[in-house]
Amino acid sequence: MDEPPPTVLLIAGLDPSGGAGLLADTRIVLASGLHPIGVATALTEQDSRECVRMNPVAAEVIAAQLARLVDDFAIKSVKIGMLATADNARAVAHSLRALDGVPVVLDPVLRATRGVALLDGDAREALAPLLRLATVVTPNVDELAALGGVDALRDFGTAVLAKGGHLPGAPIDRLYDEQGEVELPGERIPGEPPHGTGCALSTEIACGLALGLGLRGAVQLAVVRVRERIRAARAIGRGRRFVG
Ligand code: PLP
Repeated sequence: MDEPPPTVLLIAGLDPSGGAGLLADTRIVLASGLHPIGVATALTEQDSRECVRMNPVAAEVIAAQLARLVDDFAIKSVKIGMLATADNARAVAHSLRALDGVPVVLDPVLRATRGVALLDGDAREALAPLLRLATVVTPNVDELAALGGVDALRDFGTAVLAKGGHLPGAPIDRLYDEQGEVELPGERIPGEPPHGTGCALSTEIACGLALGLGLRGAVQLAVVRVRERIRAARAIGRGRRFVG
């Protein structure tokens, strides 16, 4: 019998438009030939134009779903995106304790580019339990500032991929890990940045880790793949383009 595909656990918000969150992440995991399993932390009300509301899923529901998945599947990596509430972050951290040694990618989603906040309360306090178990955290410029900067994040023991896409000029992402710092220079792709790039990047990293690439290899491959996805962005709804 064929070996089953490695399983990637997605913990993220549901964006019904498919541009970001669980549906978009699922598409990316499948493109790597891996098996996605996933738990929704919130049901957002959004389309390709804007995100107007988040409806958090109860922490007990998330914990119960995760308990079953963790017991059933040989999970090779975890991607955590939008959490909505500090209660949800705590429940996820508690549920993932059973997965000791499995790499965890944390995308600290705080706000929709066009729309509402996607995490209630103080970001650093809410995400602290997850920062302690993350392999790598992937903040953009605003998220990095809200979380206290690279050194503050490194104090939790996690590697940091500081994304430079929101800064003017040629974008440079920087990875800070145990061996030091790696610069990942990119190029500015013309047009308005598509919806869902942050979700795509963190999920691509989780896929690389599930396939056994080390952190640096997984991050380097993910950055290249997301650049191609931004180049391939398409308008599917009437609003922003989605990553390809
Ligand atoms: N909705 C969900 C469920 C998300 O996870 C995210 C971002 O991570 C967004 C919306 C916002 O995406 P963007 O800022 O690319 O519009």
